[in-house]
Amino acid sequence: MSASTEALKEHIEELKLIDHHVHGVVRDNPSVEHFSNMITESDRTPKTLDEALNTQVGFAVRRWCAPLLGLEKHASAHDYFTRRIELGNEKVNHILLNAAKIDHFLLETGFKGDEIHAIEGMRNLTGAKFDEVLRLETLAQSHAETSGTSAENFASTFATYLSEKAKTAIGLKTIAAYRIGLDFDPKRPEGKVLQKALDIWFASIDAGNDSRITDPVIIRHIIWAGIDTQLPIQFHIGYGDPDLNLHKCDPLLMTELIRITEKLNVPILLLHNYPYQRNAGYLAQMFRNVYLDVGLAVNYSGARSPAIIAESLELAPFSKILFSSDAWGLPELTYLGTRLFRNGLFEVLSEWVEKGEWSLDDAKHVCDSIAFKNARTAYSIK
Ligand SMILES: [Zn+2]
Repeated sequence: MSASTEALKEHIEELKLIDHHVHGVVRDNPSVEHFSNMITESDRTPKTLDEALNTQVGFAVRRWCAPLLGLEKHASAHDYFTRRIELGNEKVNHILLNAAKIDHFLLETGFKGDEIHAIEGMRNLTGAKFDEVLRLETLAQSHAETSGTSAENFASTFATYLSEKAKTAIGLKTIAAYRIGLDFDPKRPEGKVLQKALDIWFASIDAGNDSRITDPVIIRHIIWAGIDTQLPIQFHIGYGDPDLNLHKCDPLLMTELIRITEKLNVPILLLHNYPYQRNAGYLAQMFRNVYLDVGLAVNYSGARSPAIIAESLELAPFSKILFSSDAWGLPELTYLGTRLFRNGLFEVLSEWVEKGEWSLDDAKHVCDSIAFKNARTAYSIK
């Protein structure tokens, strides 16, 4: 390794990360089924532990997490899981979360929050800084169910509720991609169209049905309520569990909404993006308010993740790329999100430095930008 490659490696290992989209970890020892379910992105639980870990992310767990739990690298799936349970969940959480060296978590709390540690628990485990990202769909559903509001009043009471919540949150998140796809009408829904949709939704809730929002008009309405707060808004893009239709999760489908929000100075954070990371990079180059990450894809592509990181560094300005792990539930995913990110960034940038395309200082500058500086800008973190 040349001196500059060595210096770059050291710099990347020491980066203090802002993870701009991440969730809590589970509190208790998972059963083998639960572990197998959480380590795969699909909600279809694999039949065996071996099947669950017979993937890029599974191999990465055995390669990178096993040594941290006192095993040989590439330990078998069975030995890994046995050791994990032996150590106990609290200890495993502690070891893997601290090895991740995340300085500041922007924690999204809107998905199965009862199964995982919230901010307080995560802070105790890591001693890191925390801010909260609120999921619009979850907030709207709980407001409809528990606040005593009505179909007639929802638009105004939700706006008040959200502006109150927005005082302490750092950002918002929407899963419109899952619920309706990204090819929705970007205009703010109003008048009779909105009222009719709200009437149907509330009638369904009153009849005892789940409050889950699936109506495009209501999804658009709550996105616009989010835009009104001026907080940065994270959009799930691309790859996710089988609820979504992947062909409707291309970020190019929301180009018009991006044009509108650019004029309103609302930052739009395109999350994950796989396999559309090049399209996201294009949008980040074209529009002032667009940022992107390739979190999630990095974990699930394991040893192939440097290629995805490299693609995220094609068109996107270096001031528009952020780091995230999108880990949910397992601290393995939090740690791997950072480990594979550091590995991939090093692999990609060291090649460019070695070839003389980039200076070492330029490479270090880009590392800092992605690791924490761009998140500070996008979320106005002081
Ligand atoms: Zn997430």
